[in-house]
Parts: sequence; structure tokens; C-alpha cells
Amino acid sequence: MTRLSKAFIVVGDRVRFRDIGLKGDAGEFVGGSLDPTSPPDGVIEDVLPRKSLLTRSDSFKGLTQHPIIANADQVLIVASIRQPYAKWGLIDRMLVAAKAGNLSPIVCLNKIDLATPAEDGAPPKDLVEADAVLDHYATLGIAVLRTSVTTRRGLDELRALIKDRTTVLAGHSGVGKSSLVMAVEAGLDIRIGDVSRYTDKGRHTTTSARRYPLVAGGMLIDTPGVKQFGLWGVTRENLESFFPDVAAKTAPPWRLASYQRLMEGLPA
Ligand code: GDP
Repeated sequence: MTRLSKAFIVVGDRVRFRDIGLKGDAGEFVGGSLDPTSPPDGVIEDVLPRKSLLTRSDSFKGLTQHPIIANADQVLIVASIRQPYAKWGLIDRMLVAAKAGNLSPIVCLNKIDLATPAEDGAPPKDLVEADAVLDHYATLGIAVLRTSVTTRRGLDELRALIKDRTTVLAGHSGVGKSSLVMAVEAGLDIRIGDVSRYTDKGRHTTTSARRYPLVAGGMLIDTPGVKQFGLWGVTRENLESFFPDVAAKTAPPWRLASYQRLMEGLPA
């Protein structure tokens, strides 16, 4: 039997598990999964192959991979049009992290209601810029969403995209991730966190990933302390394969800038 360090098993992993219900000196049952008040006693014998994997952002610099989420289907990359302004370079980096981990990305631009109309009544400048970026992503086959929790725009679309899927939430603090989650599923407050079921110690203070089941089907995974995912497996040689527009020489200047910035950050 392989002994596995707990550090190698992450949220979403599927494992082969063997129940080893505990027996007392006289052979009587003193614990184990048949006892509903105690955690199951057993051993994890194997971690099954992962169909996708997200790692920590410091992973690619070192030689050790630090997985944090396994087997999720997609990453919902949330940004906001204002408060804070969307940083497209960071979104491009998250797109690479998602693809490198074999997850489909969705780019969600929130707080659309905050787009500021020009004085002459022309369409809001920030929205015109954001539209151009989102339209470019769409040409690359990336799902894009425009949402507002305030006006409820785009929420039905978001609900449909996360239904029956396992979705990892990504994006900077303040962009409206918790608000979006609460708007699509009343009662699900990802900021409150879970009470540990077995230890009853109250709120978690860890920065590890947490999984929330959705009533309509599917799961959301939040990683409160993780600012960026790693670019495990991304090298200077293969970076272009994550930027099909750069490869085809159709990339707008801001995409080219993202590509160059990422290239500079990768080990030579
Ligand atoms: P998180 O840190 O990404 O989880 O962001 P929160 O959900 O905590 O939202 C940060 C702030 O933005 C809160 O004050 C929200 O009320 C506000 N907010 C969230 N979504 C929207 C939106 O669509 N429009 C506007 N105007 N404010 C929003």
C-alpha cells in the first residue's frame, strides 16, 4: 500500500478509500464510519488520475508542484469595470493558468452598471474599451459575460453557465465575487465559510480551497487566500500555444503586452 502525504490530496480529488473500522481489545467495535458521531476511520490508498489541476502561484518558480484544486471543470474569472478597474493583463495570466490546468475559462465583467456615460451622451468610454476586450476573448472561443448584481444583468446567463459544473472562482478582492454568488444562489455566503463538520471548531481561518454545492446542481470552489494560480507546465517555449492570437499575428497590442510580460516572468 502506498502511504500518501495529506499534502498531496486536494479539494476535488477522487481517492480509493478503505474503511478500517477500529476494534477494541475484546474485538468490540469502538469507532469507525459506522459510528455517525465520529469521523470515518480509514486509509486513503490511492489518488485517482486528475482530469484538471490548479496549482499555487509560486509553483512554477520551484521544482515542486503545489496542487490546490483537482478535477474542476472551469474557472470563473471575475473582474469589474470600475472599483477596481479591470486589469486585463492579470486576466490574461489567469487564462493561461486555466488552460495549463485543463480547465475552461469564463471571463465575467461585473459592475457593468458603473460604466460612466460621456458628457456628450456617447456610449461610456470604459464600456467601449471593455467590450473590445471581451469581443476579442470571444473570438478566441472564451465564454464571456457582462454582469451587474445591482441591475441583475447577466445573472441568468451566469446561473446557466455554472449549473451542473464544478466552477472555481477567481479574481481580485472587491470585484464582486461574493455578491455574484449570493445573487445567483440566495443564502450562499462564501465570506462566512463553513463550520468544520467533525471538529466543530467554528470558522476556518485557513487559506485552502472550499467547495460549496449549488442547489440547482454543480459546485463552486473558492480559494480565499489565493491571489493567483500557478503556471505549472508553462515555459518560454510553449507560451505561444496559450496565445493563439499571438501565434496567428492577430493579437491587439494589450494582448501582445500580456504575452511579453508573462514571457519575462518565466524562467529562462
Ligand atoms: P469580492 O471581494 O470579490 O467577493 O467582492 P464583494 O462581493 O464583496 O463586492 C465588493 C463590493 O462591490 C461590495 O460593496 C458590493 O456591494 C459591490 N458590488 C458587487 N457587485 C456589484 C455590481 O454589480 N455593481 C455595483 N455597483 N457594486 C457591486
